[in-house]
Amino acid sequence: MTEHTLTVAGVAVDTRHWIGGERVASTDTFTDLSPIDGSVLGAISRGTAMEAAAAVAAAKAAFPAWAGTSRAERARILHAIADGVEKRIEELSIVETTDNGALLRSHRRGVMPRVAHNFRFFADWLLKLEHEDFETRGHSNHVSWDPAGPSVLITPWNAPLMLATWKVAPALAAGNTVVLKPAEWSPLTASLLADIAAEAGLPAGVLNVVQGYGSEIGDALTSHPDVRRISFTGSVPTAKRIAASAAANLTPLSLELGGKSPLLVFADADLDLAVDLAVEQYDNAGQVCLAATRILVEESIADEFTRRFADRAAQLKQGDPRDEATDIGPNIHLRQLEKIDGFVQRALVAGARAVIGGHHKNGQYYAPTLLTDVAQDSEIVQEEVFGPVLTLQTFRDEDEAIRLANGTRFGLAATVATGDPERAERVTAQLVAGTVWVNCFFVRDLQAPFGGSRHSGVGREGGTWSFDFYCDLKNTVTAPKGWKDHG
Ligand code: NAD
Repeated sequence: MTEHTLTVAGVAVDTRHWIGGERVASTDTFTDLSPIDGSVLGAISRGTAMEAAAAVAAAKAAFPAWAGTSRAERARILHAIADGVEKRIEELSIVETTDNGALLRSHRRGVMPRVAHNFRFFADWLLKLEHEDFETRGHSNHVSWDPAGPSVLITPWNAPLMLATWKVAPALAAGNTVVLKPAEWSPLTASLLADIAAEAGLPAGVLNVVQGYGSEIGDALTSHPDVRRISFTGSVPTAKRIAASAAANLTPLSLELGGKSPLLVFADADLDLAVDLAVEQYDNAGQVCLAATRILVEESIADEFTRRFADRAAQLKQGDPRDEATDIGPNIHLRQLEKIDGFVQRALVAGARAVIGGHHKNGQYYAPTLLTDVAQDSEIVQEEVFGPVLTLQTFRDEDEAIRLANGTRFGLAATVATGDPERAERVTAQLVAGTVWVNCFFVRDLQAPFGGSRHSGVGREGGTWSFDFYCDLKNTVTAPKGWKDHG
């Protein structure tokens, strides 16, 4: 234990950056709070342009050797990291829950196993990654997946380790070195990941973790000329700043941003299923980018749907996320809570009606809320709240349903509840979204392309699409023996 260690439920977390295989402290710190009760978890090294430059330099120095490491060896180390994650699922789960307030039972059973799977999946995908060679007038064409170089990965607080490793794993598999910048409201599990990666034998400098406020350290990372890729998950305003900063070096970007996704419920849907899908949108206290926060219901079943929804939602248990019985935990920060309540109160003033909720409860808990009587062009329908707040609108026919569904600047996901497969085909073909679910939600395979349309993002990651992004694809054309070009 040192002055640079904090403990969460007995788990020691180093509060310093991880640069070039060493712990590095900043002169300044920021305070990390637990959303469960607002308690202080510790003082975290607060990175500046100096630490950003050091981390990129370390990633640059480590790049040639890592890029030159065989695919089999890279895959072996990624599996060793997955082993390390699996050994520490309990520790990672309690630290993540304490740091960001999401449910402990979800972390234990779903999220942390998925973190390990991120490493296993991209290790295995790397080994089968091929591009068919082909021939052009006797010349062979060989396409290779060359590692691109140091990659800056910037992640949000709502699913910290899950979203970080969804980028770290493919970047490392591709042969790139990494500078990871976790969110300032939930930085702890990224520090534990650095420990796990080092124990798994990842060479120094291949993974670096720098902490701090995006506004203070972000620019130095994203405008750095030695950075070859930037992958960002977060909000639209930050994405615009990063894109402007990356433009100086034309650094390729992958942007996974916000959403205002619809759930379309047709009268022919299984109503119990539709209600379950709708109530599920309060998961993680509504802090899920993919959440279907706009419920669109066919007019003829709207009253019945609303009644059943309110009954189901009333059964949700809100409270301490460490309690197994809890369904909804706290929101991440008092600032986020104020933002959520601001959206709701402005909507109520504008004429919305709260079927349930509509107010702050206590501490950092916001009452699960459903608002009706909302206009399509209103703020509450158009802007991402990122809290347990849903709206309900009605439609008369398919055309109106699709018009409302596509009527925002976002296009991350959409969910359709219908009992008619032909309708499902017609409707999904017209929806603008990176992912569409029919009669299900959140089924995500790592080999599927993932990303958003319009303001929900730029590019796709997942399976081969991740390697498309993190690699420089090269085509080498070789003439046949004795071939001469006589023009
Ligand atoms: P945010 O944009 O405020 O912050 C995200 C990250 O960017 C943090 O690490 C932050 O420190 C960093 N950052 C801030 N300013 C920066 C700058 N100028 N340069 C570089 N980095 C900077 O987002 P948030 O509030 O942490 O996360 C919530 C948002 O993330 C929501 O909009 C949500 O929809 C989105 N999100 C999207 C997905 C997806 O996969 N599409 C997944 C989860 C969350």
